[in-house]
Amino acid sequence: MKRCKVCKEKFTPRFSTLQATCEKPSCLIEYSQKVKKKEWAAEKKEWKEKIKPASEWRRELQAVFNTFIRMRDKGTACISCARPLGNKYDAGHYYSVGSYPNLRYHEHNVHGQCVYCNRDKHGNLIAYREGLISRIGLDRLNELDAKSSLPLNITIPEIKEMIQHYRARIKEIKKM
Ligand SMILES: [Zn+2]
Ligand SMILES: [Zn+2]
Repeated sequence: MKRCKVCKEKFTPRFSTLQATCEKPSCLIEYSQKVKKKEWAAEKKEWKEKIKPASEWRRELQAVFNTFIRMRDKGTACISCARPLGNKYDAGHYYSVGSYPNLRYHEHNVHGQCVYCNRDKHGNLIAYREGLISRIGLDRLNELDAKSSLPLNITIPEIKEMIQHYRARIKEIKKM
């Protein structure tokens, strides 16, 4: 016995074990309409993703990436002023998103930063650099400096992959 997905009454499937509804015409019709609607929504989603411009993919990646940074640095101190971050803080970029697009998703370039340093002090960059030296070390910072002049070369498939990657890491942190 199975339960009809529309009227919720019990029925014995006659055609296949996958039969979702009883044989009442009203149930059959309602169910097939629901399936069509679902298929249409899936198609629409696929189509929308296909025509989604790179800029929108990048925006989506930036949002996921920033969430990851905030979660990674939760409970630590502001990269610039070393005060405890507390609950409200930003993902602050050392090399700014606007001027250095190729470092906007670089984990060494983005750290938890208090709102005061990030917004009021425009990144508090001199202190940020000192914070970076103690957090990631001078070698990695030099690497970052060297990369800062390169252009952003990232394809949509690469962006999609990075979105998946950071979603997975966010999930991992949530499990801890
Ligand atoms: Zn039914
Ligand atoms: Zn600060």
